[in-house]
Amino acid sequence: MVSAKKLKCSQCGKEYLPDMITFRCECNGSLDLIYDYKKVRKLILMADFIRERPWHWKYWMFYPVDDLTQAVSFEEGGTPLFLSKRIRKTVGLEVFFKYEGSNPTGSFKDRGSSIEITKAIELGANSVCCASTGNMGASVSAYSAKAGITCKVFVPEVTPSLKIAQILGCGAEVIRVEGNYADCLRLTEEANRRYDVYLVGDYPYRSEGQKSVGFEIVDQFYWNVPDYIICPMGNGTLTRAIWKSFLELQKVGLINELPKMVGIQAEGCHPIVDAFKYDYDKPIPIKKAHTIADAIACEDPVDGYGALHAILESGGFAETVTDNEIIAAQKLLGHSEGLYAEPSGAVSTAGLIKYKEKFEGKKVVSIVTGHGLKRAPVGDMPEVMTIKNDFDELDKIFP
Ligand SMILES: *Cc1c(COP(=O)(O)O)cnc(C)c1O
Ligand SMILES: [Zn+2]
Repeated sequence: MVSAKKLKCSQCGKEYLPDMITFRCECNGSLDLIYDYKKVRKLILMADFIRERPWHWKYWMFYPVDDLTQAVSFEEGGTPLFLSKRIRKTVGLEVFFKYEGSNPTGSFKDRGSSIEITKAIELGANSVCCASTGNMGASVSAYSAKAGITCKVFVPEVTPSLKIAQILGCGAEVIRVEGNYADCLRLTEEANRRYDVYLVGDYPYRSEGQKSVGFEIVDQFYWNVPDYIICPMGNGTLTRAIWKSFLELQKVGLINELPKMVGIQAEGCHPIVDAFKYDYDKPIPIKKAHTIADAIACEDPVDGYGALHAILESGGFAETVTDNEIIAAQKLLGHSEGLYAEPSGAVSTAGLIKYKEKFEGKKVVSIVTGHGLKRAPVGDMPEVMTIKNDFDELDKIFP
């Protein structure tokens, strides 16, 4: 074990050994990995840390991985952070986009999968199983194929067919459940109890991998911290993990400040936003999500507690956007910045635009979480002109 000391429940505080195959606490709370941060600091000083380019495995000392030579990796992460060219002008803010669509399978899930599948191999698993709205499944399918293990993915009825194709394309078995994402989760967790299958998903190891979004942002700003980070929230793992990355960078003395975390959910699925608005300690689960942002349609968010407390601790806020606002933001990202995002990936930018007054004069990073090629387009498409294969037809186009 490099520098991970223990797993600790974020809700009741119960502790577990870092290498136990434990997906959640007995109390159902999410587990956090706690490190020996003095040791992490020493490892950073020993490595050629400052000169290495920002990419996922550069921050290996913050991961619970024993043997780096066994890492299952597609060189995920190292995604670009673009200063907005035009949206910045329309909203009057200093806006950056972290484009996670350029990860190997088209979403930030690859960061978590690299840690999770590396860990599964280290712990001796030869098959894994997960519940997914699509992107996690696609990612886990690819990493499992690379690691040479089998993989079963449970998806809800509404999963876009392109995402199912991507999962199947890397050889995983897809099980479509007549139900929603929360039902898929319940089924896989029951499979874990009944058949001892190795679960992957929004559990402690994945969350550790998702931290590299935060590490890279600070690194790309030459070890400066932005004022706000805006994330779409499904299970809330990304929001929680980015916040943890900043706390850890502070613990090892690489930064002094912390950003404010902003979590955005869809109007058709907002258990974490409700908890924030009504001062609840935990997300308020809903029966069935209705949104085009399929990757964040999580009715009972696994890491909702962690995301909520990240937002509260950081002094940020949580809000919702409508499907129409998401579609408008998706179009704006494409047309104004050349960034093609799936609807869920445009949710943070929809929040940025809708609540722009709250960010006045601040440096803001919007996480564009997934690639536009992930699903069939929604909303009105401009008409495409068809012409005969004839030079004279060109007059119609260049009058
Ligand atoms: C998984 C995912 C999210 C939501 O992340 P959580 O960690 O579940 O909150 C947002 N956007 C995309 C594209 C995703 O794949
Ligand atoms: Zn607990």
